[in-house]
Amino acid sequence: MLDNLCPETDMCLDQAILAIRSKRPKVSKSLSFNIYQSGRCVQLWVNTPACKFSLSGKCSICDYWDGEVVEDAINQACKYINNIGNAYDTLLLNTCGSCLCDEELPFEQLMNLVSAIAKTTVKRVILESHPVYATVEKLTSIVNVLDSKEVVLEYGQEATFPLCFAILPE
Ligand code: SF4
Repeated sequence: MLDNLCPETDMCLDQAILAIRSKRPKVSKSLSFNIYQSGRCVQLWVNTPACKFSLSGKCSICDYWDGEVVEDAINQACKYINNIGNAYDTLLLNTCGSCLCDEELPFEQLMNLVSAIAKTTVKRVILESHPVYATVEKLTSIVNVLDSKEVVLEYGQEATFPLCFAILPE
């Protein structure tokens, strides 16, 4: 069982994962955010530092991007949201891993995005995030601002794996 790994083996696996991922290119700072549209759904991806599980070698499941903090990215993303009119019913917010992770998206910036989304006619807001970052306080703040909109927390299969749930790479 992987959850019985000795610390040395665990560290060795971390190093192997980091070595394999070391040549992964960073997303350019010139890209603040990106949009993917399908019907009445829109995915708003924001450039952020990579997932902490990925950065620490604790998870190799996905090949999400390794991005950066981009100055003014959130303002630009908010401007986009302010102009979507009634084009969408569903908006998915994601980053380079977890939109609820403070190191990727500081809470104040997350709430700026949430406040902008609250003013739209979007009915459903999907937050893509490892559940370890989904604290009651954070979700309560978001749900309160989004008021009557449906809020969905989306997370991957990796989050059900005990090691990935238990080890937070602080
Ligand atoms: S925890 Fe999730 S987002 Fe992070 S590397 Fe693993 S699969 Fe990717």
